[in-house]
Amino acid sequence: MRLTTGLIFLFFLSCGCAYGSGVSTTIWQVKKSTHFIIYYQEASSDYINEVIDRSENYYNTITEKLGFNRYEEFWTWYKRAKIYLFKNREEYQRVTSQPGWSGSHSRVFSHEVYTYVGMENFFSIVLPHELGHIIFREFIGYGRRLPLWVDEGVATFCEKGDARDGIIMTRAIAKTCFFMDLNEIGEINRANLLMPDIFYAEATSVTGFLLTFGNDKFADFCRRLRDLPEEQSWEAALFAAYKFTSFEDLNDKWIRFLFTYK
Ligand SMILES: [Zn+2]
Repeated sequence: MRLTTGLIFLFFLSCGCAYGSGVSTTIWQVKKSTHFIIYYQEASSDYINEVIDRSENYYNTITEKLGFNRYEEFWTWYKRAKIYLFKNREEYQRVTSQPGWSGSHSRVFSHEVYTYVGMENFFSIVLPHELGHIIFREFIGYGRRLPLWVDEGVATFCEKGDARDGIIMTRAIAKTCFFMDLNEIGEINRANLLMPDIFYAEATSVTGFLLTFGNDKFADFCRRLRDLPEEQSWEAALFAAYKFTSFEDLNDKWIRFLFTYK
């Protein structure tokens, strides 16, 4: 049930509050890599090297899985992402004023991830999930409002680089009264997210379904999202890239996919 635990965790993670005081950079040691700057207080060089290696690996696999690495002419990582590693959980919560349950949070727009050295699940779930958010939004832009399931489906897909767990779980959910079709999950936001396990599984499975058409198609969808005139609905990019005739058409094909997936 690792997925379930992770999904509940991510629900809380995604609700992390922003704080306005900023973090002084004078108390930090710094190590830079191609796409990242690691700020840390007290940590072994082995740990920092692992953070850098994992971050660069996730950067490469996520951009490749989503098809973004083929669009070099406009795919620019305009500034390095910053990962702040506090020396322990108490220091992290004291400085960032995060609630007691919080072990990490991120600011997508400014490419920042905040956590502490040795945080549980950081390498396996938190880091790829947050980088998924940052990379996706870096590619499509920050102004476009999307249903929550689109952003979270992509980020959760990035945790493992596939949607298998989410698809299998959604297939089981689809046999129960708890299943939400695309119109219903489109109504879910952070304020009314009552069943995070179901929401995240379904969102991941839709991303997995879209990626069965190939990552170049997915990147095309994202490119169209980025270039879409503000007054047009986001579905216009989806329909143009995938040739779905309607939202109901996508919904029907997604559900059929769930029951034919092997
Ligand atoms: Zn998220």
